Formats: sequence, C-alpha cells, structure tokens
Amino acid sequence: MEITEIRKPGRKLARARALLLFSGGLDSVLAGKLLEEQGIEVVGLTFRSQFFGAEAAVRAAEELGWPLLVVDLSQEQIELVENPKYGYGRRLNPCIDCHGQMARVAGRLLGKYQADFVATGEVLGERPMSQNRQSLVIVEKLSGLKGLVLRPLSARLLEPTIPEEKGLVDRERLLDICGRSRKRQLELAEKYGLKEYPTPAGGCLLTDPVFSARLRRLMEWRGKLRAEDIDLIKTGRVFFESEGLIVVGRDERENEKIAGLVGQSDILVTPAGIKGPLAVVRLKRAIELIDKDRAGNAAHPVERKDMASVTGIKSPASPGEEVEKSGPQTRGRGNVRKLELLQLVRSIQEGKMVPEKTGKGDKLAGVAAALAVREACLLVIRYSQARKLERAEAAVIGWGGSFRLEFDRGEWQKYL
Ligand code: SF4
Repeated sequence: MEITEIRKPGRKLARARALLLFSGGLDSVLAGKLLEEQGIEVVGLTFRSQFFGAEAAVRAAEELGWPLLVVDLSQEQIELVENPKYGYGRRLNPCIDCHGQMARVAGRLLGKYQADFVATGEVLGERPMSQNRQSLVIVEKLSGLKGLVLRPLSARLLEPTIPEEKGLVDRERLLDICGRSRKRQLELAEKYGLKEYPTPAGGCLLTDPVFSARLRRLMEWRGKLRAEDIDLIKTGRVFFESEGLIVVGRDERENEKIAGLVGQSDILVTPAGIKGPLAVVRLKRAIELIDKDRAGNAAHPVERKDMASVTGIKSPASPGEEVEKSGPQTRGRGNVRKLELLQLVRSIQEGKMVPEKTGKGDKLAGVAAALAVREACLLVIRYSQARKLERAEAAVIGWGGSFRLEFDRGEWQKYL
C-alpha cells in the first residue's frame, strides 16, 4: 500500500484525533469541521486509483490547513470493480464495497498516525443504495472497525460509537442530518464560510455512464480488467472487435495520448499520405501471452516470433527481445518512444515516409487478429478526409516495422 504524506500529521496534541475519509467534497469537509469545533484533531485520508484522483482533496486540505495522506488503491479498486460483494450502484460503481475498503485502510492506519477513530462524511439516506442504514452497517462490518466509524453529520440518528461512549466526542454537538436534501449542508457551508467544493462523487469515473459502459464491455471482452486497458479506454472512440480492442483518437490531443499509451505488443494504424486520426489495436492473444509471461508461467520471455504467430505480421525485431512492460518504471523511456512514434506517424501522414506495400491477399487476411487491424484501417480512413476518395491507404505500424494497406471506398462506406 503506497502512502503519500502530502502534509504529515505532527505529534498528537489534542484529546482525540480523527482519521477522516476525505474526498474534498462538502460532506467530508463539514464532518471534519464539526469535529474540529470540538477540539478534535483532523487528519484527512484520501485515495487515488485509475478511476478517481486525489486532486480535489489535496486542494481542500491545503485550504483548510489539515494534514493529508494519499493512499494509492489502483489494484485493489480494479479487484473491487471486477467482483463487488455488494454489487454496483446505477453504473459500475461498487460504492458499498469501496467505502468499506477505504474505512478498512483507514483502520489499519489508526495506530501509525495516533488516531482514535475513523470519521466519514456519509449522510444517512443521502444516496439510496450506498448510504441507507443497512449500507452504513455493512461498511462498518467490511472495515472491521466495530464501533470506530463515526459519521458526524448523521451521528445522532445512529448507534453511539466507541469515541462517543468514551467521551472523546460530544455526541450532543454532532448532527442528525438525513435524506437527499442538501439544505442543511449548504447552511453549514455558509456558517463555516466555505465557498467552493466539488459535487459528491463528481470525480469518480465509475459513476460516468459512458465510461462505465466501456468498462463493462471491456470486462466482457477480456474476461478481466487490466490496468493498461483501463487507461486506453479513457480516451478516443472505442471499438471492441472479437480479437482486438481498437481506440481511435478524435483530435491531436487524443492522438498524443494514444501514442503515450501504446504497449510494445500493440499495433498503430493511421491514414497514409493524409492527415487523420491515430488508432491503436490491442490484440487479445498478444496480451494473453504477455500476461502469461508476467505470471512467470512461460519458461522464457515472450518472443517476437510468438507475436508474429498470433497475427501473421512479421516483426523485424530480433527474436527473444523482451517485451516492454508499461508502468511507472518505464515512463521515461515511454516518453521518448511516444515522441518517436508521433514523429513517425506525422511523416507517414505527410507522405514523407511511405511504408512498404502489403497486398490484401497475404496471410494477414486469414488471421482473425488481422481483422481487427483491417477494421482499424477502415476506421482511420472513415474519420479522416481520405473518406472522400475512391481509394485510400492506411499505414500499420507495429513491432519495429510498418507497412501499408489499400482500400476501396466501398469498404469503409459502411462506417459513413
Ligand atoms: S463514487 Fe466511486 S469513489 Fe465514491 S464510493 Fe463510489 S466507487 Fe468509490
């Protein structure tokens, strides 16, 4: 578990200290304010993953002068989304399990940061699925912190917690807010002079209908979630073919983003001799080989000749060369590669570099994986000015080599 201390909590000086699950949203700010008013020290704890960031919490904690810890939950969150014990909300958001996980992490940090209990900004009945009475009980159960999760905004409607019973927290000064109306929270915001705060759950991609639908499709398609795939479907137009995931950039910014996300087993596609989108094709089988290699099931690193057998695309790279794994450790090299790729793509689009021609009758046509490559070619033509031509070419770049394929108008017409 990676913890970043944005502002490190000092030695405990007050009679009690709360570790507050802190999103930076109004409810969590108010929960902390109510405790602070009682002379309780507040240490914020926020989380980041591929689905949500910590930026709002960092900004709010800075303004409030609260210490803040950021915990990276990327892998844990993926596992929750794949298999939530208490199901999803309206989208692919496993909020009950997610709250339980966050509270559980907070519980593990109580001793380290000299905190007496965990506090949250949850409000009874504010969200029908994840904040009803039963869900709050489940969250506490999932956290393993019986009696140690305090919800200052609704505390007087809930069972007294241990810090209340011990007299560390004055229950009478906590609130009894219930329901979806934000009226009392807004009055409190005014009382405390709070002006800007993000909307509840506004920063979580799992509550976004478009992203959620893509993620669901990705799970069905791949049978599991991989961090690298999740990054890829956050951008561009996304298409799932039986053997390949295709993402097509919609503008220059997205093309750049795509180039930065390309793994070495991916294939890039772009119109040849004309400006247009950049597409990446991620082949299912190629990734399975990499995963196998990562899991240590393969006796040797994935060889490029194995990759070639997947798609029929002959790689000019030397056999046995290790496949690059994406991730923070390769980010430096990744940036250089991204610039090189963009340079190559630009040269191909401007006609300064003309890849070798490959006919439709070669072995690519018969390989299922190549169908996804072909599909990507038609898509980049369809989304460029080349769609107005009678014949157009697309360049396919992968594994150290590139070639071009030619298409008739009739072939991409179905996308128009
Ligand atoms: S909205 Fe997202 S971050 Fe918030 S509890 Fe639900 S899944 Fe977790």
